[in-house]
Amino acid sequence: MRDTVASGEWRVANSKARSLRTPNSELRTILEEAQRYLVGGVNSPVRAFRQVGGDPLLLVQARGAEVRDPGGRRWLDFIMGWGALLLGHNALPVVRAIQRGMKQGILMGLTHPAEVELARLIVEAVPSVEQVRFMVSGTEACMTAVRLARAQTGRTKIVVFEGCYHGHAASLMAGKTTSVASVSGSEVISVPFNDLGAFEMAIRRHGDDVACVIVESVAANMGVVVPEPGFLQRLRALTSRHGILLIFDEVVTGFRVGFGGAQGYVGVRPDLTTFGKIIGGGLPIGALGGPRQLMQRLAPEGDVFHGGTFAGHPLSMTAGIATLQELKTDPPYERLERLSGRLAEGLLKSASRSDIAIQINRLGSMLSVFFSETPVRDFAQAKASRRDRFAQWAQSLRRHGILIPPSPLEALFLSTAHTEAQVDRMVDASRTAFRSLKKKRFR
Ligand SMILES: *Cc1c(COP(=O)(O)O)cnc(C)c1O
Repeated sequence: MRDTVASGEWRVANSKARSLRTPNSELRTILEEAQRYLVGGVNSPVRAFRQVGGDPLLLVQARGAEVRDPGGRRWLDFIMGWGALLLGHNALPVVRAIQRGMKQGILMGLTHPAEVELARLIVEAVPSVEQVRFMVSGTEACMTAVRLARAQTGRTKIVVFEGCYHGHAASLMAGKTTSVASVSGSEVISVPFNDLGAFEMAIRRHGDDVACVIVESVAANMGVVVPEPGFLQRLRALTSRHGILLIFDEVVTGFRVGFGGAQGYVGVRPDLTTFGKIIGGGLPIGALGGPRQLMQRLAPEGDVFHGGTFAGHPLSMTAGIATLQELKTDPPYERLERLSGRLAEGLLKSASRSDIAIQINRLGSMLSVFFSETPVRDFAQAKASRRDRFAQWAQSLRRHGILIPPSPLEALFLSTAHTEAQVDRMVDASRTAFRSLKKKRFR
């Protein structure tokens, strides 16, 4: 493991935590009160563990690739802040940057130089981006991108892909339903991911009314689904021909798939790009980027209003700068690709030994396991995978001290803090889980 994690502090925290362990009875009480005071006991639905069963987890500490609950139990973490933590939990450069920032002041209310610095880092890394507007979440970035596209084109319709997630703005939720092409409301046309035939038909029918096509450049919210060769290229060609803006949602993939995001990886230049997650180093962030001529539609230069009390928050900027500088000076992408390859290979071997059919979709440090006999290339196929088996796998891993996202439709994330030994531990624990799945099947 690279020495970027505050492991010294973790050890100190460990010895303190032993004496401060919350007893099980108290943990119960907190979980009960969570149900009373928070909707469903959580602030984001997937945290309720409804899709795999078991109590929601309370976590109070995190270091490197591990998290810990108030009772002192530890898990090897593959949730990693839902993809925000590419450098692992509490990476030292990020912690130091936040500490330095806090000493200067938490919120300025006017522009801080760090906003300029993070924007410059993004512009230099992503060729399609000349200017950036920072905001507080990926949801806000995608919502703003669509509003900008509508203003720019004077059209109202948008095209989304089933299973892609762009935050919870009303119009952008259509892609999370199973509706077939063009039945999900008059303004939103939803087509299957990786289905160029359906896309071409939608454009033939509605092309001149469509403001934008928004797509996850590598889908990560129906599990990982990698775009097939030529898919994004064809979206680019057809949108250009019809005067439609192409928006790449790189909230997950930006600076994870490579330093330039997925667009650098596939060599397609979108009109607008949304970012979030990694660029905030673990603090809340969202960003919209594109060519100057297009970004100038935003206020105060143009007529599309966007603003925010916390937009460009100095601490998020500072954590983001520390993260991107680390990724730039010591690119981890090849090592992460090898690490996830090792994980995938180990899981496939263990599953086949127990005669359990799985499909692994992965790109770089993001990976999904589908309990399915056949490849998964769209939302319908992702949803057709065996959820009961996924739930049993997840529960078994949890008992073995390993935490994965509690949903078959979320990606597992590796970070630079993960080691080969930890990946092997995950494979070993999965082997045990697959073996008991096999027994269940034959009972
Ligand atoms: C997480 C995510 C979002 C929403 O970002 P928030 O910061 O959670 O609002 C949007 N698009 C994609 C692809 C995401 O993964």
